[in-house]
Order: sequence, then structure tokens, then C-alpha cells
Amino acid sequence: MFLHSLLERTEIIMPTISCEVKKCCYNTEGGCKLENVRVDGDSAVVSDETLCDSFTENKEEATNNCSCEECACDKADVECSAENCRYNSDGCCEADKIEIGHSTADCCSDTQCETFEEK
Ligand code: SF4
Repeated sequence: MFLHSLLERTEIIMPTISCEVKKCCYNTEGGCKLENVRVDGDSAVVSDETLCDSFTENKEEATNNCSCEECACDKADVECSAENCRYNSDGCCEADKIEIGHSTADCCSDTQCETFEEK
């Protein structure tokens, strides 16, 4: 039984990311250049209590972690600590698509995963 569920988990679910945080250096007119994204939300019960930990202000020198030839990535591997979200499965996001806001965010703590839904 355990082995069966382990085998099922080997399929990595990668959400599409829609991001409106214009001040992030990884933002590509509504998308994201990263193929590995980290969302934080330990004990979050509303989306306001989550944040995109991968946010990097675009004044900083940064390299993306994307291996594809054409950025942006359509999909990303999203590691997430928001255990109360219905899309969270053992620290990984299993939503088809996530939306990161806000458009006026200029630091990590101003961002949020708007797709968060309490279990
Ligand atoms: S939808 Fe839920 S599990 Fe996915 S990144 Fe957002 S808060 Fe985390």
C-alpha cells in the first residue's frame, strides 16, 4: 500500500504560474522565469498569510534556475509550506495553476498566493 502511494507520488505535478508582481526580477509580463518556486505559508488559513519566497527585487543581480531555452517557463515545480491549503500535498503544490499577487508588491512579504484555498 505504502509502495503504491510512493510510486504514485513520483509523478511531479507542476502548476502553471501567473504572476502580477512587476517588481520581481523573475516576472515576465505575467509569467515567471523560475522552474523551481518556493511559497511559504506555515499555518496560513487565508491567502494573505502566504508569500512567494522566491521573490527577488529586480534591482538585484539574479540568475534564474530555468534550464529551458526559452524563458519563461510554462510550468514550475512549486514547493509550498502552506499545509492548510487544499492543493498542498506533502509540501508540493498540486494545483493546475497558481496566481501570485499583488501587482504593487515590492517585497516578499507583500506577495501572496491567491490560489490558496483552505482545506
Ligand atoms: S495553491 Fe496552495 S499549495 Fe499551491 S502554492 Fe498556493 S498556497 Fe501553496
